[in-house]
Amino acid sequence: GPAPESAASAVAWLERHGRTFDLFIGGAFVRSASEERFDVINPATREVLARVSQAGEQDVDAAVAAARKAFGPWSALSGHARARYLYALARGVQRHSRLFAVLETLDNGKPIRETRDLDLPLVARHFYHHAGWAQLRDTELVGYESVGVCGQIIPWNFPLLMLAWKVAPALAMGNTVVLKPAEFTPLTALLFAELCQEVGLPPGVVNIVTGDGRTGELLVAHPDVDKLAFTGSTEVGKLIREKTAGSGKKLSLELGGKSPFIVFDDADLDSAVEGVVDAIWFNQGQVCCAGSRLLVQEGVAERMTHKLRERMERLRVGSPLDKAVDMGAIVAPVQLEKIARLVEQGKAEGATCYQPSWAVPEEGLFYPPTLFTNAHPASTVAQVEIFGPVIASTTFRTPAEAVELANHTRYGLAASVWTENVNLALDVAPKLKAGVVWINCTNLFDAASGFGGYKESGFGREGGREGLFEYLVPSWEKRQKSEVRS
Ligand code: NAD
Repeated sequence: GPAPESAASAVAWLERHGRTFDLFIGGAFVRSASEERFDVINPATREVLARVSQAGEQDVDAAVAAARKAFGPWSALSGHARARYLYALARGVQRHSRLFAVLETLDNGKPIRETRDLDLPLVARHFYHHAGWAQLRDTELVGYESVGVCGQIIPWNFPLLMLAWKVAPALAMGNTVVLKPAEFTPLTALLFAELCQEVGLPPGVVNIVTGDGRTGELLVAHPDVDKLAFTGSTEVGKLIREKTAGSGKKLSLELGGKSPFIVFDDADLDSAVEGVVDAIWFNQGQVCCAGSRLLVQEGVAERMTHKLRERMERLRVGSPLDKAVDMGAIVAPVQLEKIARLVEQGKAEGATCYQPSWAVPEEGLFYPPTLFTNAHPASTVAQVEIFGPVIASTTFRTPAEAVELANHTRYGLAASVWTENVNLALDVAPKLKAGVVWINCTNLFDAASGFGGYKESGFGREGGREGLFEYLVPSWEKRQKSEVRS
């Protein structure tokens, strides 16, 4: 097979920083007030990659103040002027895409093939797309104003991509940001901070505060933050909603999921099997919209299971720098333990568990692809978001039953429908309570289409025209608020 990707570029970058990182505030890297730091590990080897700052109250205050100071001049720029910065960031991401991809793979454990071919192109696409919207801002979105200082809190599963989803629209619409990456994966955000310096982004427009949930809490509670955008667990999302209630802060939440993957009798089964690979083994299943519930029509259930098991035997789990692996490492020990615990619970509740005959590498945080069959729709593995490479399958008889089973969840992020009958697909799709429904495909994203959930998957949309309004307020509303304040 092809030679593994060399980690040299990312290692050189880490070494250049002495593997020790400060916070990015007001356009410069500054030491945190407490000088407290935490380890960031490579989950494929358990080696410490770097030591990163834990931002505390003084640091978050400084970051918000820097963003506030930058907001006036930044929001007063013409859309065209802001677009030039976004284009520069997009080109910068492309220029350094190899370094970003390798660093992301070291930090997160996801296969280099994914960071290189999916994450990074999508990141660039997001900045290009929103550069276009920045240009159109002054003519197409009249009657709206920038929100102000945005606090943005993101998860570890697509670190740089989630940053792009948050930062690009915020900046395009004239806002400034304080972004908190997840504590497991802060490195590409810090490299992005350097890119902001490289393209001459005005100081304070983007600030990066690293740290764990405590840093997030400080951002949530900060009185001078006008908008919060959060992607992460439903549990923390609920907490943030409670804490911001009545604060006047604008809020968007992208939370968990337990998305159905529905296969009808007449589906092209070989394509559907490849679809399952993408749905649940892409990024080790650590995908908010992962197709983690397989609903198969009775007539093809046996054949589908057989084909899936054969395909699972051919999946490769291993070093994420190896260009031939299909699955890399799980991001952190706590996630690996959670997956293992839920799989044991699934077995205890009586579902049939299938894992391939080969063993996963021992040195890193690896977990094998896992298929549960005969999972009762109310059981743990069919209801709880595992956020790992585990899919639970159930059979159904009729399309109506498929819809009922599909909607039998607290979540509503995504769904995938497989059939060769376009009438059936178009009949079923609108009945699924999900933010996105894919037909004969899965896990496809584009900056031009809004993404977001229903029910406990959150609210608000990211991407597309609708996503822009998360970073705008109607002018009358802003006037009213400032009158109330004065
Ligand atoms: P998490 O909620 O534990 O953490 C997400 C972020 O919130 C991290 O940066 C974390 O430091 C921060 N945080 C933790 N506690 C906080 C608190 N009390 N106040 C403020 N911030 C806090 O989630 P995770 O384990 O990092 O990510 C996995 C979850 O994210 C999954 O449930 C997944 O479905 C969800 N997710 C959703 C989407 C989406 O778009 N809907 C995308 C990716 C991940």
